Amino acid sequence: MTRLIFLGPPGAGKGTQAKTLAAFLQIPHISTGDILRQAIQDQTNLGMQAQGFMDKGELVPDKLVEDMVKERLQQPDAITGWILDGFPRKVTQAEFLAELLTSLGQGGEKVINLDAPDESVITRLLGRGRKDDTEEVIRRRLEVYRDETAPLINYFTDRQKLLTVNGNQSQEEVFTDLKNIIAA
Ligand code: ADP
Repeated sequence: MTRLIFLGPPGAGKGTQAKTLAAFLQIPHISTGDILRQAIQDQTNLGMQAQGFMDKGELVPDKLVEDMVKERLQQPDAITGWILDGFPRKVTQAEFLAELLTSLGQGGEKVINLDAPDESVITRLLGRGRKDDTEEVIRRRLEVYRDETAPLINYFTDRQKLLTVNGNQSQEEVFTDLKNIIAA
């Protein structure tokens, strides 16, 4: 049973690594960003509520993502484990998740902090070309990361759940480190 939370600045390669590792472990990769982008594309209620926030690089309101995660973790494929990518993104969401996992009887989760310096994440994001990857929005997403998400590093360290991997290496090297750290 593997339950992993991926943490890290936007552009650290979190999405790619989380997806590859989930396929390798044969567990679902649950990316709140992917779910939200799909909802926007499908023009669902959720998508319409989230779009304005995402376009500006702001976090969407907790309730929207929390409901989404709560529903997703109860799907049958999530019983054997999961990788959460992009959630929690702030302390209130982490507190919500802790309670949710207790109520679902899903515990033992570890948090992987994929670390990367600002210069390398900006370069990566600018090269990616997603709609919210313009310079201004990237700057805002990094600010939001620093103010809201980075405090989770201490939060999970205090709870002895944090494992750190250097994201400033080749994809193959990061993947090797990830496999080693979760096997340890
Ligand atoms: P990245 O890690 O590249 O910044 P994501 O795909 O994880 O991007 O997220 C893209 C956007 O989706 C965020 O900027 C935010 O607006 C929204 N989002 C994703 N996850 C959350 C979350 N847990 N809470 C609030 N907003 C979120």
